[in-house]
Amino acid sequence: MTTTASNKVRLATAWFGGCAGCHMSLLDLDERLIDVVGLVDIVYSPVADIKVFPEGVDVTLVEGACCNDENVHLAHEVRERSKIVIAFGDCAVTGNVPSMRNRLDRDQMINSVYFEGPGKPPPTSVLGHFLPTLIPKVLPLHQVIPVDIFLPGCPPDPERIWAAIVALLKGEPVLLPEEMRSFG
Ligand code: SF4
Repeated sequence: MTTTASNKVRLATAWFGGCAGCHMSLLDLDERLIDVVGLVDIVYSPVADIKVFPEGVDVTLVEGACCNDENVHLAHEVRERSKIVIAFGDCAVTGNVPSMRNRLDRDQMINSVYFEGPGKPPPTSVLGHFLPTLIPKVLPLHQVIPVDIFLPGCPPDPERIWAAIVALLKGEPVLLPEEMRSFG
């Protein structure tokens, strides 16, 4: 695994169409986070609020499904700039909760949410300018970019996140035991 001048692995995490529960589970590593931070540089993450996905990332954890054009654009940047991409949690692995909208007509759904309900509708100029455009169907990450590792769970519990991180830091393949490969 490539390391930076500080001899640390360059780690990124990205948040697509998900509830942030997978990131919360990552934070549930609790005191082990101190060990992780000692071994990695977090170069992009919603918890670090870095605006541009950097070049030369070693490992990226992607939470959430691809729901809109911003997700798709970032997915390609993640793939081009990361050595290892992990589908992090059931939404990234299967589409999970966000894909429930795939049974609905997208335009009718947007109409129902923004224009037919109670309250003042937003100016139509908002849609398409400030809100990313929904892609026709929610897609799991591997249907948009090649994925190296699948880490299931809704969310993946901290123990399986830890098992994956430890293997990666040792430069070993992530071979989770069967009980860590369940969904939900
Ligand atoms: S997998 Fe579960 S916890 Fe993670 S983003 Fe999706 S719904 Fe939230």
